[in-house]
Amino acid sequence: MPFLDDTEALALWEDGERLSMLDRAVRMAAALAGIGVDAAGDLPLPVRDRLLLEALWHMGGDSAPVVAPCPDCGTLHEADVALAPLLEARDAAPAQLTIAGQRTDLRPPSSRDLAEAITSGDPGALALRCSGFDAARRDPNAAQAIEAALEEAFPLLNIQIAMQCDACSAEFARRLDPVPLLWALVTAKAKAALASVDCLARAYGWSEAEIFALSPLRRRRYCEMALQ
Ligand SMILES: [Zn+2]
Repeated sequence: MPFLDDTEALALWEDGERLSMLDRAVRMAAALAGIGVDAAGDLPLPVRDRLLLEALWHMGGDSAPVVAPCPDCGTLHEADVALAPLLEARDAAPAQLTIAGQRTDLRPPSSRDLAEAITSGDPGALALRCSGFDAARRDPNAAQAIEAALEEAFPLLNIQIAMQCDACSAEFARRLDPVPLLWALVTAKAKAALASVDCLARAYGWSEAEIFALSPLRRRRYCEMALQ
């Protein structure tokens, strides 16, 4: 079960505060999968994000919020998105595309591909990295075609949630990104763990290690008693 306990959440939060959201995603995936950060950086994004979505499910409940302003009138909307259908989405295998008359295999990008594409400053770099097909580099529309084919083959690469404005009936879509959603849960869990240490250390004089040796339920009960 992909789950982050209090001490894991606290370590991730402490380490990730200074990092980009992409690096936070890699570190959360590493902790969830029990693998090193380098290996987590090489996980295909659909695999990484399935781990993050499963953790969202176990830590935050069976739905996740998506908040977006209406592009026409600016009214703020929130949709509660059920996670189960997203977790049931299956990748196409093998993912293929025909470019310039030749069929080529596509692979989903990893976090490392994404970081290198961002560094390159070329918006089409990520799509081209995911096809080993040289002819794609000579076709000006190749990057866009590869991107569309990747999103179709790997549904978790770009989760779009359809929304409709109550005020003006405009229809629009907003991406559900599991990374900031899970990071918000990790942050909340870490801060709650810190608060419990603060409460129990003040009340009983216990050390942080002694407090974390208690179960979350015992910590909560002792804290409630200390505050009575
Ligand atoms: Zn509107």
